[in-house]
Amino acid sequence: MRDERIKRVRAYMEEKGLEGLFVSSMDNIRYLSGFTGSAGYIVITLKEAYFFTDSRYTLQAGAEVSGFRIEEVKRPWVDIPGFLKDLGLKRMGFEGAYLSFDSYHKMREALPGSELVSLGDELDGMRAIKDDHEIEAIERAAGIACTAIMDVLPLIKEGVSERDLALELEYRIRKEGGEGVSFDPIVLSGRRTALPHGKPSSNTIGSREPVLIDFGAVFDGYHSDETWTFAIDGFDREMERIYMVVKEAHDSALEAVRPGVEAKTIDGAARGVIERAGYGPFFGHGTGHGVGLSVHERPKISPYSTEVIREGMVFTIEPAIYIPDRGGVRIEDMVLVTNKGCRVLTRVSKDGAIVC
Ligand code: ZN
Ligand code: ZN
Repeated sequence: MRDERIKRVRAYMEEKGLEGLFVSSMDNIRYLSGFTGSAGYIVITLKEAYFFTDSRYTLQAGAEVSGFRIEEVKRPWVDIPGFLKDLGLKRMGFEGAYLSFDSYHKMREALPGSELVSLGDELDGMRAIKDDHEIEAIERAAGIACTAIMDVLPLIKEGVSERDLALELEYRIRKEGGEGVSFDPIVLSGRRTALPHGKPSSNTIGSREPVLIDFGAVFDGYHSDETWTFAIDGFDREMERIYMVVKEAHDSALEAVRPGVEAKTIDGAARGVIERAGYGPFFGHGTGHGVGLSVHERPKISPYSTEVIREGMVFTIEPAIYIPDRGGVRIEDMVLVTNKGCRVLTRVSKDGAIVC
């Protein structure tokens, strides 16, 4: 599996005329080497592959990393450029989106004879199509998230604070086998649901006001991400109408997913429904994003995306309407692109009654 990934990277290097590739994004390092620690670097040449880390991680790298020569470094930004200099690479790619300005300059000074080529975040694209193992891990993560919210259901009643619910949800996600939460759970109620990424507060949940819960679990490094919006005793009339519009936008986007379609067409399917209902100005963000080793990755599902959808991609569909000082609704699910359409991976039903 990892050999196959390295092969793909080398084909990419040949296409770009690169003799070497320096990888510094931890997600891409994990994808290529299997390393799960938090400090390491990779150098791939057309013939060799090197993994650099410091003494805190040497043992771990020995157990997790295969197919790479493992090198322990004391001062990465002195030792690695020195090592690269000895390799004598004429043209080397690096991840401009992830290398700091200072680190780039250290590399530049140490390698005066080498051409350094920024690849931005292009390498992230190799992670967009998931293999069976990755899909299984994502499904496990979604399953854990669903069981956790079921565990929390009895606590969701009038008078409980957003913060207490978020805390309980996080505890349950870990208790059910999650390595962690995909991000701090977002639990908002009442007018605060109009904040797309608001932080849970001491605000308490009241009857007939919207409650928005955006949450996810991590399993084997892979994330889940979904949003459930509901109201205890049901929405009032205006919020009910908004909910129905967002649900129609969500369902239209799901129907638009298939291999070969442009990502912006899927966004347009959701956005069109919201615009026609007169709520266009209240949906500011994109319709979705890829999910995998990172909770936000490629492809982007937005009006500006240039990506084409392919079988095996996993991303969210999350249209929303946020009315300032009134409230918001977001409905988010994760889908896997199949040969004809898509399969929903998240397990919490968004049709009202919660069923995993
Ligand atoms: Zn989310
Ligand atoms: Zn999301």
